[in-house]
Amino acid sequence: MPSFRSSDARRVVLSVDYEVFGNGSGDVRQHILNPTEQMARLCESHGFPLTVFFEVEEYLAFERYRRELTEACGYDPAGLIREQVLALARRGHDIQLHLHPEWHGGRWNGQEWVLRQDQETVDSLFESQGEATSYVASRKRVIDALLEEARTRRRVQVYRAGAFSAQPGRRLLTALAENGIVIDSSVVKGMTRWNGHGALDYRQAPNAKGPWRVTNDVVREDPAGAVWEFPIYSVMGRRWQQATFARFKAKFSRNVPRAQQTRLVRQLGIRRSPFAFLRFLVEPVPIKLDFHNLEPMKLLHLIRSAPKPENGLPDVLVLIGHTKEHIDNHGFGTFLRLLDSESDIKVVGFAEVAEIVKSL
Ligand SMILES: [Zn+2]
Repeated sequence: MPSFRSSDARRVVLSVDYEVFGNGSGDVRQHILNPTEQMARLCESHGFPLTVFFEVEEYLAFERYRRELTEACGYDPAGLIREQVLALARRGHDIQLHLHPEWHGGRWNGQEWVLRQDQETVDSLFESQGEATSYVASRKRVIDALLEEARTRRRVQVYRAGAFSAQPGRRLLTALAENGIVIDSSVVKGMTRWNGHGALDYRQAPNAKGPWRVTNDVVREDPAGAVWEFPIYSVMGRRWQQATFARFKAKFSRNVPRAQQTRLVRQLGIRRSPFAFLRFLVEPVPIKLDFHNLEPMKLLHLIRSAPKPENGLPDVLVLIGHTKEHIDNHGFGTFLRLLDSESDIKVVGFAEVAEIVKSL
């Protein structure tokens, strides 16, 4: 059993959301499989585990439409994903659960995916706790079966909500606890969103780094909670500070489908009045430690300057990236080299963090 002392090295989790774009667009080989393989190899060259948040609801949709998709793409997306996840698990990477409930009952119309955009959270899918618990159990089982087939002893112990949407979370968090999932990593302190279907407000999160225990709400600490929240680490900044070259490349390169770029431009409100746009640029926003959006030196600086946790809790920084934003190896490769040269920073998989919190 790993033990934890406050003098231990700072731990860093490199987590990556493994999925296509939110509206279902994208190509599984280009936006999931190839970038993941490159990231995994880079990690392996330093002996680092990559924590893969496997979007199981999307994967199940690819399975349901295996024949149609194989015809449309010329390859079987679900089959290739399955092979890759098995290989990653065998190679020691960490596979954890990620769900975008919009894909629940998603339909392929022969051209594109028709998703239920009004189903953003696990809580919105079901009326009863029993249904929510067995739903999470069935999705966890998909990964656990692969982990078993890969002959690892690991099982899913960590969850991340699609689009960070873990509120309301009473049924979700109960379902996680009842399924032995001991960590949620969905919060970004300072994030707030209302999109007409659901809302989240993480401004009142106990802190940006955590961890804290939760029962009904991911941002409300409950010392008796069965699930630990390890937020994605962020610092508050102004929106213009998000405009890094790395982020621009991740969002607007030729790798990104045109419809997705148009959607993003609309969200950014670039066509608003100049005054409104200026106001928009100086809005306070959380800047996530996203290794596909921030420059390597900036990431390292934020990692080094993050505060130590109080009360001897594990010193863990959760970083995020997205397979679809891994355009080339340059930034991520440089960042891993920097991490490797830091003797008091240890890169771990989320599974190791789960073992630590179980011993607390
Ligand atoms: Zn996602």
